[in-house]
Amino acid sequence: MDYKKLANLLFADNQLTVEEIEKRYAKRDLPQGSHVTRFAPSPTGYMHLGGFFQALIDFNLAKRSGGVFYLRIEDTDQKREVSGASAIIMNILTSYGLLPDEYQLKGGVTVGEYGPYYQSERKEIYKAYAKKLVAEGKAFPCFCKKTEGLSDVKEKREKKFAVGITEDRDACRNLTIEQIEQYLKAGKKFAIRLKSKGNGTNKIKIVDGAKGEVELLENASDAILLKDDFMPTYNFAHAVDDTLMGTTVVVRGEEWLPSYPLHVEIFDALGFKQPQYIHSPLIYKLNEKGNKNKISKRKHPEADMRFFDKEGYEKQAVVEYLLNLINSNFENWRKANPDADIMEFPFDGFNITANTPVFDIVKLNDISKEIISKYSADKCYQELLAWAREYSLENLDYLVKDREYVTKVLNIDREKPKPRKDIYKWSMFFDLFDYMFSDPAKFELEDINKKDFEIVLREYKKYIDLSSKDAWFANIKKMADALGYATDNADFKKNPEKYKGNVAKVCEYIRIAVTGRKNSPDLYEIMSLLGEKEVLQRMAEFA
Ligand code: GLU
Repeated sequence: MDYKKLANLLFADNQLTVEEIEKRYAKRDLPQGSHVTRFAPSPTGYMHLGGFFQALIDFNLAKRSGGVFYLRIEDTDQKREVSGASAIIMNILTSYGLLPDEYQLKGGVTVGEYGPYYQSERKEIYKAYAKKLVAEGKAFPCFCKKTEGLSDVKEKREKKFAVGITEDRDACRNLTIEQIEQYLKAGKKFAIRLKSKGNGTNKIKIVDGAKGEVELLENASDAILLKDDFMPTYNFAHAVDDTLMGTTVVVRGEEWLPSYPLHVEIFDALGFKQPQYIHSPLIYKLNEKGNKNKISKRKHPEADMRFFDKEGYEKQAVVEYLLNLINSNFENWRKANPDADIMEFPFDGFNITANTPVFDIVKLNDISKEIISKYSADKCYQELLAWAREYSLENLDYLVKDREYVTKVLNIDREKPKPRKDIYKWSMFFDLFDYMFSDPAKFELEDINKKDFEIVLREYKKYIDLSSKDAWFANIKKMADALGYATDNADFKKNPEKYKGNVAKVCEYIRIAVTGRKNSPDLYEIMSLLGEKEVLQRMAEFA
């Protein structure tokens, strides 16, 4: 068969040559050992936690090695496209400090010399490479109807392998040039398939950055490279793009690992060298029964990165939590270096700790508490305000008008050797501190002695003194003594029967009346912020 002729027949209007394209994409001039990575999401309109996990690896690999991190939008399946997808993704990346060095905003700016960064704008490039493969007898047209691409290839291949048939030759590879000409004349649409040379029984090895050494069966499938609308499949596009754009490490979801042998064959056919691969693990979550399930947007709100913004998590906490999943030694490093910049952590993208990382929100909350505990009250206020501006407009007016008071509330138990660690997300602030803004909605009155409670509150009116913490406590002790409570704990422990309880009990009664709760941050700070009038009013409700 005259493959050149075939190529010209199929791609009659294709002017652009591979040589011209390769002239446009200069080899990147970067220091030795630097990594070029990319985040290559499909524009589905949101960022999956697993995608962000990959982007975090990409960013760290590139930035720590003096390399380049770029964003490529894989929008070849236009049915699934959501408008503004690149803006949504850029927004999340940049808000987490993962600004790509190269990117393109649809209809807007392009930063970088290796674009277009939207695959849908690279159609002519894929066509040129497909034409080259046809001209070299490595690919052929397929006129069969079902040409959807990846799922088609994967499904067929897996089914055949399952019954022991290891070759997946497409019938159209045997068409004569005359038959093809006839089809073309009849206006039949065609896809381009790879003419696989594999027999599907040989093994190939991959040294993967997350999985280590993995053995897979070589490809034997005549996989689709260009669909019948000439849009490339992922398999083909990534080979062309990652080569032209100079990617050195591909970080992608482990669901792509089974297609790796196909990618080996496509790269070979194109005469390209493959980059390194890190097949990043999927993230799991435990269900109520303790079983692991892949984290999915349908079942788990935290699968969508916007969840963390809506809830008001500190971005640094989310990043640190995920770094822990990537390299489990992060946690110890953070303990030893509490104030160090994350970029000082000896990150290792080629040694991902967890094979099946399990998302644990309690751990994230702990990290977040730790981070927020180190903030000044002013910084807390700024963060709370920024969160409310987006997600809690009903509180915004109040926050702006009462800045000073809110900052003081945020400062309770903060400037102390052991600062408070109760806030882990800003959305919890108003619930946690409801009593600082209005009368408590409910009171933890179960298992307390109502009569004693009322006596203490009635009596306390005479003793209240908020002029200083010492005076406040001295007076509480005085009252405790007068009412038959112990003011010395050791004494109380020795002779508990002599007393009604100790001074802590008295404080508990006051605390419940003021805050509604048995536990709260520093009671004196709370009472002095609320002021004597308000405190007495709250007590009057019980006595
Ligand atoms: N668009 C592909 C995905 O979202 C990219 C995979 C890759 O990073 O190569 O799964």
